[in-house]
Amino acid sequence: MNILTFDLEEWFVYQQYDKGPRDFYLPIIESYLDELLELLDRQELKATFFCLGMVGKEYPGVIKRIARKGHEIGCHSHKHQFVYEMDYARFLKDSKEAIDILEDITGQKVRGYRAPAFSITEKNKWALQVLGEVGIEYDCSIFPATRSFGGFPSFTKHEPTIIKYGNTIIKEFPINIANVWGMNIAYSGGGYFRLIPYWKIQKIMKKSDYVMSYFHIRDFDAHQKKVLSLRYFKSYYGISGAFDKLKKFICDFDFINVERANDEFDWEKAPVIEFID
Ligand SMILES: [Zn+2]
Repeated sequence: MNILTFDLEEWFVYQQYDKGPRDFYLPIIESYLDELLELLDRQELKATFFCLGMVGKEYPGVIKRIARKGHEIGCHSHKHQFVYEMDYARFLKDSKEAIDILEDITGQKVRGYRAPAFSITEKNKWALQVLGEVGIEYDCSIFPATRSFGGFPSFTKHEPTIIKYGNTIIKEFPINIANVWGMNIAYSGGGYFRLIPYWKIQKIMKKSDYVMSYFHIRDFDAHQKKVLSLRYFKSYYGISGAFDKLKKFICDFDFINVERANDEFDWEKAPVIEFID
């Protein structure tokens, strides 16, 4: 089971991290989105786009365009604030607000969630209870390895898993991790997807039963203004060839979206984890 997902946040995150005026980025990002939607059409693929509520509020047409193509719209929070920076009440408000905006635009229920920067961690497992409360059926926020922000290294399941937390039951699709060069790496998205040679990704994919990808349009945007920092290498390495790499990735393997994965997966056979605080 290979699952194709994108986190749709560029229209807002560029402003938030002060990478420059959005008038400069908007046309570039819009053109990448068009190219991406065409590519998915050509391959007859339906993906899941985890969207920010704010993007929906400011650019409802973008969300509509994606939904009209038959892709699933999931929630990626309202303003990309990390979940571990919020308390229960604030996260509840944030999630409700975003879900309401997205549902109003598409007229469809939002069933899936992905936390900004995988910020549901060992320390804020209560967030899953909030997701249950706002009607989320499945979550894709658990990143079972260490990372600069977020991450849940003690989550040992690298496959769809049922999580019980108090009275809440959430179906979890964690990010899949592979051992590359002796390290536990999430190769199916972000900087590592650009960093690892394609032949190596192909080899790992062929051996995997479960792949959860996590792409961003900015991962492919070779025109973006680059910010000099220690993260520079990881942020921009391989960016010029990244869209071609994504094309190969999408054409060489079969993908489904999270909604279909959830509907088709035999949950009776899934491992069950009970979280206790
Ligand atoms: Zn994000």
